Amino acid sequence: MRTIVLDQPRQLSVVDRPAPQAPGPGEALVRVHRIGICGTDLHAYQGNQPLFTYPRVLGHELGVEVVEVAGGAEGIGAGDRCAVEPYLSCGTCIACRSGKTNCCVRLQVLGVHADGGMRELITLPVRALHRSDTLSLDQLALVEPLCVGAHAVARAGIEADECVLVIGAGPIGLSVIQFASLAGAKVLVMDVNRDRLEFAREHFRVAAVIENSEGGPPTETMTRVQALTDGDMPSLVFDATGNQRSMTGAFDLPAPGGRLVFVGLFQGDVTFHDPAAHRRELTLLCSRNALPADFRRVISLLESGRVDTSQWISHRVPFGDGVVGGFPRWLDPQSRFIKAVIDM
Ligand SMILES: [Zn+2]
Ligand SMILES: [Zn+2]
Repeated sequence: MRTIVLDQPRQLSVVDRPAPQAPGPGEALVRVHRIGICGTDLHAYQGNQPLFTYPRVLGHELGVEVVEVAGGAEGIGAGDRCAVEPYLSCGTCIACRSGKTNCCVRLQVLGVHADGGMRELITLPVRALHRSDTLSLDQLALVEPLCVGAHAVARAGIEADECVLVIGAGPIGLSVIQFASLAGAKVLVMDVNRDRLEFAREHFRVAAVIENSEGGPPTETMTRVQALTDGDMPSLVFDATGNQRSMTGAFDLPAPGGRLVFVGLFQGDVTFHDPAAHRRELTLLCSRNALPADFRRVISLLESGRVDTSQWISHRVPFGDGVVGGFPRWLDPQSRFIKAVIDM
């Protein structure tokens, strides 16, 4: 079975590995048809993904087809096409017991902490599979990254006509934009990169974009946001940058009584001035991964055509050496990488 292994940073190899054994109870053997590539994969490739060990088989955004299911698993059978929920949770810890499997104490993310789907066949728990009879394999591979944005938006509980600011117009920010506008919000987008803002404006429902010059005067940005919100400031701010300076500055942006949602993760300390946050009775929410309910909801939104996926795939390569050559190219900012999809 052809498998692509990330042996160490910047070294991918195409190898032959034995196919998995027949699935055990509660498991399914699936054939991988599509693999989406995101920032997590690129970070792992560059050697700067935290808590990542090598060698590792990448691949957590998967469009698969069921080959065999152990016993008579309910709702899933051979031939079914599925999106994969790559968050392998323990089922017994306090998070799992309260239904928050996305932040399980012993969480293993497929393709990050455990070997993922960059191979022809993989055995998965049946509960990780979310079936759709109508979505394309490309769409199934897009479900997971869309769920990350959908979950963050669900955390925030957007009200219709609410003014929302999304900081960071990379793939995660774009997915937040998509679901925030679907929830009826007026969406403002801020980024340091003009190309990204252009892309967001062209392909998503965005009320205004704000170019935030890196290291530029924050007062200028504040004034601009204020002007775009009739002096109110946005009641909800998402930070999807994972950038310390952006996340620190984001505390100043929500209106009094507002919420701040950290979707992007920074590996270190982010501090805030308590009186400034306290005075406005700010709520800070962190959003991690997604829940099974997000997968079901995103799939039904894709099936009904309410969420369009045509703009998402910026690059496409066949499985094999194309992948090995693709990674260094996708890292180049000139490539305007949004999402690569690998075809099996
Ligand atoms: Zn991803
Ligand atoms: Zn758990």
